Amino acid sequence: MTHDDWTDAGFATRAIHAGQAPDATTGAVVPPIYQVSTFAQDGVGGLRGGYEYSRSGNPTRTALEDALASVEGGARAFAFSSGLAAEDALLRAVLRPGGHVVVPNDAYGGTYRLIARVLGPWGVDHTVVDPTDLDAVAAAIEHGRTALVWVESPSNPLLSVTDIAAVSALARAAGAVLVVDNTFATPYLQQPLALGADVVVHSTTKYIGGHSDVVGGALVVGDGAQLPVGLEGPTGTTALVDAVGYLQNAAGAVAGPFDAWLALRGLRTLAVRMDRHCSNALTVARYLRDHSAVTQVIHPGLEEHPGHELAGRQMSAFGAMVSFRVGSREKALDVCARTKVFTLAESLGGVESLIEHPAQMTHASVAGSALEVPDDLVRLSVGIEDVADLVADLGQALA
Ligand code: PLP
Repeated sequence: MTHDDWTDAGFATRAIHAGQAPDATTGAVVPPIYQVSTFAQDGVGGLRGGYEYSRSGNPTRTALEDALASVEGGARAFAFSSGLAAEDALLRAVLRPGGHVVVPNDAYGGTYRLIARVLGPWGVDHTVVDPTDLDAVAAAIEHGRTALVWVESPSNPLLSVTDIAAVSALARAAGAVLVVDNTFATPYLQQPLALGADVVVHSTTKYIGGHSDVVGGALVVGDGAQLPVGLEGPTGTTALVDAVGYLQNAAGAVAGPFDAWLALRGLRTLAVRMDRHCSNALTVARYLRDHSAVTQVIHPGLEEHPGHELAGRQMSAFGAMVSFRVGSREKALDVCARTKVFTLAESLGGVESLIEHPAQMTHASVAGSALEVPDDLVRLSVGIEDVADLVADLGQALA
């Protein structure tokens, strides 16, 4: 398996070239879809290029994994069949019964569900905390017991911004692993490993795929990242990369070749898409802020957002998610029903604009928990259409 070295190249160049050398056999300019389950061996153990069976490794998946490792500045990346499959692999790599996770109070609902409802019965404990309150994070970390500190920044759907470097110092002092869900920011806007995270998680379903045509996930492990203090992985080492790689194969929730190919095709245009996504989102957020039917607009690019200054420091732009409140659940549902350019749908990060009602859709699973979201909240994934059409659409829906 090859790993091209594009370390000195810029982001867009790495997104297009890292791991994606023309095919050695045919010269195909983009990595082909190796839609194959098994590979011929030249005598027992005589693997060509290291490939044996596609759960363990597949050339299309390797191309995606090498490209993701390069754009996140990580040692290695691992591609999974969904963002939650990636999260599950990480959680099982670093946790054992009795282990403890610090979870932010506005994590993606599915993340919370996985930690609380799926791993809870296996003896994993968690504490929910406001991640923007560093004293609260410090108090929630139990030295010797906390294995993992979870950060999602900006968060889904309330777009809070967490100081990654500061939380990293707290996690490190306790021997815990720091994971950052970088789905909303993308590696183009934010580099959590450089800020001190041990591992980054992505739902590649979102901006990396970018076209609402694939479900996928990834973990990118930082150079030298270790398992929580006191834990040894199944291969007898304490390296996080070994434990995650082992689980990817042993539990097997890998990205299929076509899904890996789609995610990689999306990654190549991430930089140009994000520029347009971000400028459209800022225009939409400013328009909503001035609208009389809107009681609050939440977007890190607005000066009044409590995380505006921090986002300006740890991100290169403010992302393209905008949430806003309209005073009642009925009004929120009404706006969601009336847009025409914004499609009413779950998910985010595609070229087309989407609108949704988190309380009843993406975050329905956290109703009644500390992560419950306000029921007059509307979430927008601002796409890359003409911004005048987006503003006009919201205008008529709010009229
Ligand atoms: N993380 C965030 C921030 C998300 O928004 C999502 C899905 O919406 C996930 C993780 C889970 O990803 P997937 O739906 O690909 O499993």
